[in-house]
Amino acid sequence: MVIKFQAPAPWWSRGLQLLWLFPQGEVIAEGEVWDLAVLVEDEGGRLSLSVTDGEKMEHKVIPAEPRGFLHTLFLLLSQFNQGSISPWGILTGVRPGKIAARLIDTCGLSGAIEELCSNWLLQRKNAQLLVVAVSNGYPLLKKTGLSVYISVPFCPSRCDYCSFPSLPLDPWRDKIESYVRQGAEELKELLLTCSLQGHIINSIYVGGGTPTALSPSQLNKLLAPARCWQGEFTVEAGRPDTLTEEHLAVLKDLGVNRISVNSQYPLDSTLRAIGRKHTAQEFYAALDMAVSAGFDTVNTDLIVGLPGQTPEDFSGVISKLAAAGVGNVTIHALALKRGAGIKEQYLNEAQSRRIAQSAYGRLDALGFKPYYLYRQKNMASNLENVGFGLPGSFCYYNIASIAESEPVLGVGAGATSKLGWGDSFKTLNNPRDVNQYLARCQELLERKLSWLEVDKGTCP
Ligand code: SF4
Repeated sequence: MVIKFQAPAPWWSRGLQLLWLFPQGEVIAEGEVWDLAVLVEDEGGRLSLSVTDGEKMEHKVIPAEPRGFLHTLFLLLSQFNQGSISPWGILTGVRPGKIAARLIDTCGLSGAIEELCSNWLLQRKNAQLLVVAVSNGYPLLKKTGLSVYISVPFCPSRCDYCSFPSLPLDPWRDKIESYVRQGAEELKELLLTCSLQGHIINSIYVGGGTPTALSPSQLNKLLAPARCWQGEFTVEAGRPDTLTEEHLAVLKDLGVNRISVNSQYPLDSTLRAIGRKHTAQEFYAALDMAVSAGFDTVNTDLIVGLPGQTPEDFSGVISKLAAAGVGNVTIHALALKRGAGIKEQYLNEAQSRRIAQSAYGRLDALGFKPYYLYRQKNMASNLENVGFGLPGSFCYYNIASIAESEPVLGVGAGATSKLGWGDSFKTLNNPRDVNQYLARCQELLERKLSWLEVDKGTCP
């Protein structure tokens, strides 16, 4: 569907947020060939909105006010879609929990659901899921302290659907030792300064890429400065084809207490179709190994919308994972991003939604609670990413990072630091390119250290 959209700033960028939700929509600003034309004109304090498909036309004039504009445009567009263009209504941001949290504070749980349905045009199921997730996760947020994120951007090979800045291991092998040395130095300096300046560390999270693409001894060297850290310490083991007993022994010895082992969907035909280089059996064997190693929580990620999935099979997979000892399950939607090998979704919106609903239902029946939720641009089927956990096993890092409730110190290539307190954060990005990271690490580290020293007094 080609949508021709013409609007003066700032209504152009606001309207675009909604047009991206339109199923299979492609937005153009000029051109004679289109399926839908949307025209917004500023009439000095009032906005004139027209939408036409060439046969019928809908037109409204409204006060020039951002929420009213989105609300009206959403309803007009939905008339040309035989129904709502998104179950998330005009809540187009990636962190809808922030708005839900404010509504819960002012109107309570059921009032927040009503507000989200009536003023933000969410479908009731989505509003309920969001409010429940926020009400489970937000109360755990801490008023002081910060978290540390350590990036290991390497993977043994690239999966077809991957939209992360992951780097294939082989071409970088001769840089890994320097990377590990530099990352460990960065981590050591940051932890030491936190300790000297009295900054509390709430969680440490090691993500990727695939951190276990490093050898056990490299992982040990990188994370040695955090050895015996007493709080939440998570490592994404990611690809089961990288995980060994030696990795698990090193992680246990370091004090890691949460681990994630992922297949995205443990079915051989699906794994082959999405370019994963391991089998379902290898995934379950790695999972057993991780559960037997005795980590407090083992997480696994599943993606809704992959080839070969059905609602029944998806629910069956969840039951099998729970029986195997998984305490956290993150249900992701496929993100169709530039940089990913796939450009179109494998399953249609209705199929994907049925699978997601079936998954949420089975998780609920097994005692898992939703506790954080976020969205991304270009999510297939306008779905959502939701973290579920058994009570007591929620991942603090994920709740805090989605809520953007505290500073984050980023370590390693591509890691983002969020420096600041309250609502205002300054982001500082370590370069994604490993060579540039190695060249600039010291300079960036010094900026983080001086922020830790200068901002000590403003820590609430
Ligand atoms: S394991 Fe994850 S980060 Fe690595 S290539 Fe696959 S999807 Fe990307």
